[in-house]
Amino acid sequence: MDWRSHAIIGAVLAAVVLYFLHANLITISILSIFAAFSALLPDIDHSMSKIRVITDRAIVIFALLYGYNSCNPSCQTLEFLKTALLLIGIYFLAITFLKPRHRGITHSLLFTVLYGAFLYAFFDLNLAIAGVIGYGSHLLADRQIKLI
Ligand SMILES: [Zn+2]
Repeated sequence: MDWRSHAIIGAVLAAVVLYFLHANLITISILSIFAAFSALLPDIDHSMSKIRVITDRAIVIFALLYGYNSCNPSCQTLEFLKTALLLIGIYFLAITFLKPRHRGITHSLLFTVLYGAFLYAFFDLNLAIAGVIGYGSHLLADRQIKLI
């Protein structure tokens, strides 16, 4: 199944559930977009997936912003780039050497629950619901529902 189908299924399922939970239209719209994003996450273990392309690019922007932000006003350009390059290097080493096999642990109920717990702990219940629905819809669409 391609990334668009996963995103649409996740967004529609989240919108339906949030509607029945009496969320308002703006909340449903925003959280459905988040659910669409969450529906792409399980394929982070595939090097050609849409979410990998997005994260591979986003980490560069994040690292440059983080490096710039963590640099005090008197720092030199090289110090700023050193931090950014270090973060980019750590990301690519981790994603290259720690990446699980495709449709492995990222396509499990364990990861779905961990993702929901993370969202609930750091954000709120509606976001966690949308995230779990999006993530879980990917597993359903792939027909890859494993415990671990
Ligand atoms: Zn998948």
